[in-house]
Amino acid sequence: MGGKSTAVDRGLMITVSSRGVARLKSGHVWVYRSDVLSADSIPPGSVVQVADQRGKILGTALYSTASQIAIRMLSHDSVADFPALLRRRVAESIAYRESLVHDTDAYRLVFSEADFLPGLIVDRYHDILSLQILTQAMDVDPVRQALFAELTERLQPASIVERVDPRVRQLEDLPPRQSALLQGAKTSTVFSMNGVQFHFDVLEGQKTGAFLDQRENYAAAARYAHGAALDVFCYQGGFALHLAPRCSRITGIDSSRPALEVADQNAALNHREIEWIEANAFDLLKDYSACGQRYNTIVLDPPAFAKTRRDLDAALRGYKELNLRALKMLAPGGLLVTCSCSYHVSQGDFLQMLAASAQDARRTLRLLEVRGQAQDHPVLLNVPETAYLKCILASVS
Ligand code: SAH
Repeated sequence: MGGKSTAVDRGLMITVSSRGVARLKSGHVWVYRSDVLSADSIPPGSVVQVADQRGKILGTALYSTASQIAIRMLSHDSVADFPALLRRRVAESIAYRESLVHDTDAYRLVFSEADFLPGLIVDRYHDILSLQILTQAMDVDPVRQALFAELTERLQPASIVERVDPRVRQLEDLPPRQSALLQGAKTSTVFSMNGVQFHFDVLEGQKTGAFLDQRENYAAAARYAHGAALDVFCYQGGFALHLAPRCSRITGIDSSRPALEVADQNAALNHREIEWIEANAFDLLKDYSACGQRYNTIVLDPPAFAKTRRDLDAALRGYKELNLRALKMLAPGGLLVTCSCSYHVSQGDFLQMLAASAQDARRTLRLLEVRGQAQDHPVLLNVPETAYLKCILASVS
């Protein structure tokens, strides 16, 4: 394994401060630039040895010259051949999913730090793989080649597409690159999760195409859903399609027309009747609650309101407004499914916001399930940043 080329820069060494060392000893895998003491003339994307101030080696890491996260640990040991290590870890990530994931042919195969491959994301949508490269070290040519080789040999996908976030490349000081097919010609497919079918098109959609992290929450919500239902921030209908068989009627709301067009195609694919409304969710919920609309099930799955720590208070106000309105509209015995994908809003913050909303709405919430992201998006216990999704299911009286 590993091919002829190697990205190893033998002898490159970076010294980190005692604060950086303490962070690594706590099990975290990042060292911020402010804790890097010496990294003179180390090229972008190098594989480096990390040492404390006395010269003791702590392990091997990937180095970025641009990101505030200067160091992402790869191993406690030395790494002679990073492309070969990457191939082994991709194989292990695939095996981990095979042991965990059922009833779906769409899931995250590689989730960056949580699969010990910092800066790499790979999603599978049936026979198409979608990858994202987020750091300098993962963008090095021999590393990319090793990745394609391993994915192709193991999974024989119809095609592999790279999705590029131009902002990420800019922040990492990487040359611009377009989202593109890297291999194969197939650009669309149908995938299924929990028995529900979805269209996937590599040239459309947001993020990596679908919100795979909600897969287990869709199934959980479907267990309790009933009556008249509202899926707010429905995107391409992930919750609505799962809930439809349990509900007497269901409406999906989103501000994105292209998302709703795909949602409608997904409804047809699954022979479901769902009403889709293009609207600003804040305005619509305000109108609906003002005119006394009642629902038995409401899902709230907004985009991340807190992109940085500074946004926390404004984000919590946004979540509270949405949850308050939803609570006022739920009939007794109703189901609230409320989500936040903002890492900066902790589970504690979110539950506290929900408790305050319940109090203001004079409703009583009984928690049914406190959930997070699906297991194919693993959480590393010592790296809190790997846990970002909250999904609370509550019975409202
Ligand atoms: N629940 C979806 C994912 C939602 S992602 C799923 O499971 O697939 C967030 C969605 O919110 C996006 O589709 C985006 O278009 C939509 N959105 C963002 N701001 C909005 C607003 N103010 N009103 C309505 N929809 C909005």
